[in-house]
Amino acid sequence: MSVSELVRGDIDLAAARRAVADLLVALGRDPGSEHLADTPERVADAYVEMLTPREFNMTTFPNEEGYDELVLARDIPVQSLCRHHMLPFHGVAHVGYLPGTRILGLSKLARVVELFARDFQVQERLTKQVADWLQENLSPMGVGVVIEAEHMCMSVRGVRAMGSRTVTSALKGTLREDARSRQEFFALTGVAA
Ligand code: ZN
Repeated sequence: MSVSELVRGDIDLAAARRAVADLLVALGRDPGSEHLADTPERVADAYVEMLTPREFNMTTFPNEEGYDELVLARDIPVQSLCRHHMLPFHGVAHVGYLPGTRILGLSKLARVVELFARDFQVQERLTKQVADWLQENLSPMGVGVVIEAEHMCMSVRGVRAMGSRTVTSALKGTLREDARSRQEFFALTGVAA
């Protein structure tokens, strides 16, 4: 699947703005009041932005040097929306791979994270989607993805566990099967295995 096919074009902005105004009314608020007058527009626009990944070209290069050690991008910022509450979750991703015949521009690892984060998500699913995409598009010897994130639905409501972070991981190939590679990956990410 190409990147452009993943960008959702099924958003109806006007309907989203009307729906936010309806939600305000349903919550006993007056969308006509001074401070709420532009809120439906602002909220709908914010959601559209948060649900739209930027397009990017998946540039790969031949692995001419035969580099066969782990390539790891640490602390890639993650902003996403919890699909259960439509509230943000945010944190960092550590994305690594063991190169096969192709290597990827380093900045692209962050773009792959964004590609799947700009959606109503479940953190486990997001983690797996990033790993699957790299496996399919780069065919590396192994892939490892760790995401650490704080969910607003856990911080500001429910258990109100402010600062609590959820850690998820997805491993493929050598990083999954070989204990030493796996340990090296987790040691480099700084996450206890
Ligand atoms: Zn939630």
